[in-house]
Amino acid sequence: MKFGGTSVGDAECIRRAADIVVRTARERPVVVVVSAMSGVTNRLVAAAQAATTGQPNVASELSASLREQHTAAAKVLVANQDHQSALVNDLERIINEVASLCQGISLLRELTPRAHATVSSIGERLSARLMTATLGELDLSSRAVEATDVIVTDDQYLQAEPLMKDVRQRAQAVLQPLLEEGVTPVVTGFIGATVDGVLTTLGRGGSDYSATTLGAALDADEIVIWTDVDGVLTADPRLVPTARLLREISYNEAAELAYFGAKVLHPKTLRPVVESKIPVWIRNSFAPENLGTRITAVGHPTEHGVRAITAIPNVSMITIGGRGIVGVVGVAAKTFQAVASVRANVLLISQSSSENDICLIVESADAPATLKALRAAFAADLVHHDVEHITVNADIAIVAVVGEKMRGTPGIAGRTFSALGRSGINIIAIAQGSSEYNVSFVVDAKSMRDAVAVVHDEFKLHEVSSPAQNALHDQG
Ligand code: ASP
Ligand code: MG
Repeated sequence: MKFGGTSVGDAECIRRAADIVVRTARERPVVVVVSAMSGVTNRLVAAAQAATTGQPNVASELSASLREQHTAAAKVLVANQDHQSALVNDLERIINEVASLCQGISLLRELTPRAHATVSSIGERLSARLMTATLGELDLSSRAVEATDVIVTDDQYLQAEPLMKDVRQRAQAVLQPLLEEGVTPVVTGFIGATVDGVLTTLGRGGSDYSATTLGAALDADEIVIWTDVDGVLTADPRLVPTARLLREISYNEAAELAYFGAKVLHPKTLRPVVESKIPVWIRNSFAPENLGTRITAVGHPTEHGVRAITAIPNVSMITIGGRGIVGVVGVAAKTFQAVASVRANVLLISQSSSENDICLIVESADAPATLKALRAAFAADLVHHDVEHITVNADIAIVAVVGEKMRGTPGIAGRTFSALGRSGINIIAIAQGSSEYNVSFVVDAKSMRDAVAVVHDEFKLHEVSSPAQNALHDQG
């Protein structure tokens, strides 16, 4: 069971989460993975960055705010005086550690990826202790476990990849014995360590990924991601008020939705479970009576194929165009080399067969650096007019139509674009991955809301969908 930042956001939330753990742990063994209390990781990262400018009060302000939030929670959660002061001392030790780190960064005026990872990991180290103590208070035997002892990763300190074979070994050695003794381990999410023990992080929002990594390593029966929403919806309810909760979706659909901006899951979350087919639940820790969304290998494919619509604002379209690029070998290679050199994440690519232009979409935050890199890469071509222009349009949004069963179901793109056409929504670019799990298109930012609503309506996603014929077979 993984609890996200809002699910452990304050004493009351931690208590609610602990109740959920206790109820389950009485019946079968549970491993708990916790995020930092909400807002903490952002504050840690901001402090680390502020320290590089040599601001004098960063360390003291950070430790005061961490102390206030965590110590206050500790006092509410743990009544037993001895236990409470042991917990507070433990928290204090970690808070002092991060204060010294910030002082070190201010002196050096430099933030290395390793130091950045270490500072940002503090939130999980604190919340894991609060959760462990709370479980103890509820008479459940539990132990805080540092993920650095279990999740072995490569050395990309801020975006580390777990090394599954090693994780499996460590999980068997560290977690399995606790489970066998009836002790509930509470593992810090988000964090790992290299084979040499140097701390790494799995990337922002990475606790989901920690949970599935551990679940796969332990051959768990199921993995539950507890969060603050009821599950995955057919669309963002702020865009489409009739959006409906999906009871079951496939790994591919969930991954596609995560990638395309539905912020329920970290995009890498489902990778570790694809092979073992462990079901992953998304459930609301504030409404545990609701069942949530179950994510499985098969999902629940429906006749019309489309399951959900998602939209990504705050993206920019960069177009490299000109007659000169027609038939010239290597333009695409040069383009993507330039994009990769600034580590921009490309969300969508489209090239028309006339080859008059290539367009790609990146997050708007990455656009200026990407544009600069492209202009440098094509500097000579721009002079000789082989490439006539490189332009950027920040006033756009991507809309993605997602569904596993879209694959091999003809007419989905046709219906999508006809419906948009009837509503007078102009489509700027279109892309479909050959996986066929999604059809994405680009519209003006101001048309995004209408585009999502129109497609949601066209495929009647507000209605409970009838399962596809072969899905009935799949599900026996
Ligand atoms: N605390 C980390 C973050 O905010 C990891 C997580 O919450 O999943 O990015
Ligand atoms: Mg999260």
